[in-house]
Amino acid sequence: MLMRNSILWAANNGTLRRQVMRSRLARPVARRFVAGETAMQALETTAQLNAKGAHVTLDYLGENVTSAAEAAAVRDTYLGLINEITQRSLDCNVSLKLTALGLDIDHDTCWANLRAILQAAQPHDLFVRLDMEGSAYTQTTLDIFEQMFVGEGFRNVGVVLQSYLYRSANDVERMNELGARVRLCKGAYKEPSTLAYPDKADVDRNYRELARRLLCYGNYPGLATHDSAIIDWVKQFVRDERIGRERYEFQMLYGVRRDLQQQLIAEGHHLRVYVPFGEAWYPYLMRRMAERPANLLFILKALRHR
Ligand SMILES: Cc1cc2nc3c(=O)[nH]c(=O)nc-3n(C[C@H](O)[C@H](O)[C@H](O)COP(=O)(O)OP(=O)(O)OC[C@H]3O[C@@H](n4cnc5c(N)ncnc54)[C@H](O)[C@@H]3O)c2cc1C
Repeated sequence: MLMRNSILWAANNGTLRRQVMRSRLARPVARRFVAGETAMQALETTAQLNAKGAHVTLDYLGENVTSAAEAAAVRDTYLGLINEITQRSLDCNVSLKLTALGLDIDHDTCWANLRAILQAAQPHDLFVRLDMEGSAYTQTTLDIFEQMFVGEGFRNVGVVLQSYLYRSANDVERMNELGARVRLCKGAYKEPSTLAYPDKADVDRNYRELARRLLCYGNYPGLATHDSAIIDWVKQFVRDERIGRERYEFQMLYGVRRDLQQQLIAEGHHLRVYVPFGEAWYPYLMRRMAERPANLLFILKALRHR
């Protein structure tokens, strides 16, 4: 826990970020978890993953932008991506963070950018997932989602719920009522025990319970986890309940448990790989370190062998 907290602290430390990102060695090492810095690299990776039978979601890295110009640049990157994905007929959708579209600046900026992306994606039936960030953004993200899904009638948008948050049980109910598509994950941010289960056993238990409700009553949930015990439980549950494979998908992060990814595909499950790209890879990489400090060893070893 101490290690996880220290790494999550480092994820938000500006000085450290600048130092790591300046280091010539860090960038190639980040490639294990990040498809590259350009959209072209990400699209090539997508084609390779598609060839192996995986669906993909592309994420342009970046969060907490502070100017309208930066937010507009993120929006334009997504518009370009949507165009390329459809031109190349890739099996791919997109994931984005609302703070990358200007949520910290003002809601109108964020709304306008998101609307432009949803409008561009809609005619191609291309799905747009709103990633879930730290708990300071949970309610706003869900409000903006409802505004788009219910208020403006975009059906190509979905959300993420985190099993570490106490509130997620209610949020699952609400999303099931709406028929909204949910990605379920455990949650990657540092949260207080007033809002989130401090014990991993409770987070895992809640994951199963929320997955059960989404599988039984939800709309094509994305079960995002590398936890093989949970994955085995899901496989058994869907067998017992006769839930077809067209009703859910597994999701995993690029570069994580590639063995398990291939196994699920070989077994005939839908598997979507979350492929991040872009120059702002530092906080993303640090969150992956926090999830599995052994990744630090992987990085240190890679640095030693270069
Ligand atoms: C597709 C996808 C989208 C996500 N989107 C969000 C989001 O929008 N918001 C959010 O807060 N979180 C998101 N996450 C991250 C998630 O919340 C967890 O932090 C992360 O998935 C680790 O939890 P786990 O379910 O894999 O289980 P854990 O219990 O953390 O891990 C189970 C096992 O998986 C393996 N593993 C897990 N993480 C790693 C890693 N980084 N490197 C190597 N092995 C690993 C290890 O073998 C570990 O023992 C997403 C995760 C995925 C897979």
